Amino acid sequence: MSDRVKNVALLGSTGSIGCSALEVIAACDDRLTAYALTGHNRLNRLAEQAERFKPRYVVATDLDTAEDWNPALPTGSERLVGSDALEKIVSLPEVDIVLAAIVGSAGLRGTWAALEAGKTVALANKETLVMAGPLVMDLAKQNGGQLLPVDSEHSAVFQALQSGQHREIQRVVLTASGGPFLNRSLADLASVTVEEALAHPTWDMGPKITVDSATMMNKALEIIEARWLFDLRPEQIDVVIHPQSIVHSLVEYVDGSMVAQLSPPDMKLPIQYALTWPDRVAGAATRLDLSHPIKLDFQPPDLERFEALQLGHEAARVGGTAGAVLNAANEAAVAGFLSGELKFAEITTACRTVLENHNFDPSPTLADLLAIDRWAREEVSRWVCT
Ligand code: NAD
Ligand code: MG
Repeated sequence: MSDRVKNVALLGSTGSIGCSALEVIAACDDRLTAYALTGHNRLNRLAEQAERFKPRYVVATDLDTAEDWNPALPTGSERLVGSDALEKIVSLPEVDIVLAAIVGSAGLRGTWAALEAGKTVALANKETLVMAGPLVMDLAKQNGGQLLPVDSEHSAVFQALQSGQHREIQRVVLTASGGPFLNRSLADLASVTVEEALAHPTWDMGPKITVDSATMMNKALEIIEARWLFDLRPEQIDVVIHPQSIVHSLVEYVDGSMVAQLSPPDMKLPIQYALTWPDRVAGAATRLDLSHPIKLDFQPPDLERFEALQLGHEAARVGGTAGAVLNAANEAAVAGFLSGELKFAEITTACRTVLENHNFDPSPTLADLLAIDRWAREEVSRWVCT
């Protein structure tokens, strides 16, 4: 056990993961302290967080909203503005661990800079690995950095992998709640409203990932995330529907043993495990109560109704530019759905169309990936207009 308090740079502190992470830090204040907080919008919330946690740095990343934002910060806290400040704070020698909790491809920049500086990154932002998995994993290796999963499924796999050797893995089974439309027919999915898509049955999350859960694109992104994070072959990754969200994923070993991790659907546990790893400590997360009956159901996913899953398997299989294209097309399509320009069922169709029409490159550079990310977004906007 380390006896020094770890300084955490919390990128995206105003979001759903960010707020849960601050609860974890408050509950583990003998081990963790909020050294830097960043937010893009909801700057009132950022100011309240700064007041409570007294971080050394408070960063408002959006230059437009930051312009008029000059709150009275606690003594010792410094205000920085703009996305460039992310690169500065994650590489400070005082920072022990970076929690990457920005949503979407905007999260890549801070994680990349942290890994360049050889930091440990607790990664909630799966989009980084979906876009640039092989490059990000190489960067961590080259600079002595490390990626620890925060996504609940990947945290479960990370924990279950401690039961065996990498060569003994038969397969990894990611669980999926199935979202709010698990039992809707394909025809009914066409008429889904934004309100319905944002009402997740088991998890309380930010809007983008909540829509991703409803289309099951979230699980598609998680297949790709698992492929790179755990160095798995694409055919070693399966998905099973588990509506209760209690078994967070399973690892099956060659001897037939399946090892799983169970806990209530509460992101505080995987966040805390990444921040205090390799130690386990009592914290803020809710616990399973086995004094009452608990049902655990599992069923195979319907790939026809949730076509996104097929796209995830396909992008994980071919690698190269496919993950970046799928991710960017999905971000643009989800934004289109949330603003009323696209129908729910069109999100996945738009992603498939853009993925199929892209100029595939099996070994892109970071610059290539950023360029194809822009291209895919433009394609979706053209697709929206036609
Ligand atoms: P959210 O929308 O609630 O919060 C996003 C955060 O990112 C906010 O602090 C926001 O200010 C910041 N942000 C948004 N755009 C930005 C930009 N362009 N530049 C810099 N900062 C920006 O999202 P969330 O649900 O907390 O999800 C965050 C990440 O964690 C996502 O990648 C998501 O897939 C992943 N994740 C979330 C959950 C969950 O339970 N919410 C679970 C697993 C993984
Ligand atoms: Mg997840």
